[in-house]
Amino acid sequence: SPRVGVLALQGDYDAHALALEEAGAQAVAVRLPTELFELDALVIPGGESSALLKLMARDGLFDALRDFAAKKPVFGTCAGCILLARRVVAPKQPSLGVLDVTVERNAYGRQIESAILRTPTTLGGEPIETVYIRAPRIMATGPAVEVLAMRDGSPVLVRQNHVLASTFHPELTADRRVHRLFCTMAMEYGRIDRDLTRPIDVA
Ligand code: GLN
Repeated sequence: SPRVGVLALQGDYDAHALALEEAGAQAVAVRLPTELFELDALVIPGGESSALLKLMARDGLFDALRDFAAKKPVFGTCAGCILLARRVVAPKQPSLGVLDVTVERNAYGRQIESAILRTPTTLGGEPIETVYIRAPRIMATGPAVEVLAMRDGSPVLVRQNHVLASTFHPELTADRRVHRLFCTMAMEYGRIDRDLTRPIDVA
């Protein structure tokens, strides 16, 4: 089974670790750059992206995460999606820049306006239950970004080669299709020492 790290600085990392184990991965908590060694993949959970950025500024973690995300599979949910994005607006903030999307923070309102919706996906099977908590909105996607699910015309689940991101929280529902997809990505790409200058062909 793939060894998948979960960034455990802040936010709902425990729910992701459990979801990964249910999807067949070995979940490993990550708080330090050295804990990224020998992982096949990494999840960046939801939480508060500005708080996560401050914690990532310590111990060289921001640079270590950017290097990791440039070559190994990463999955960002909600705040994690914001951190992976190439461009973050409203308010503007730095990010790892490995996913070619523009993201608007808190686009769907405050905590009490958070929602649970059923959304069709390209994953096969029934529509997926999607939980949004002060979710960002993906405003624009680059040509290499594949949209796997949409809400009101905006992408909510996207993939660019080895990078997966959702604006909702798949770890908070019982459906494990999204985490299983990420485990497959971890096994396909995680153990390859890739040439970073070349894009990966996605079948
Ligand atoms: N609103 C948060 C942010 O801007 C994201 C919320 C979440 O991860 N549930 O980082």
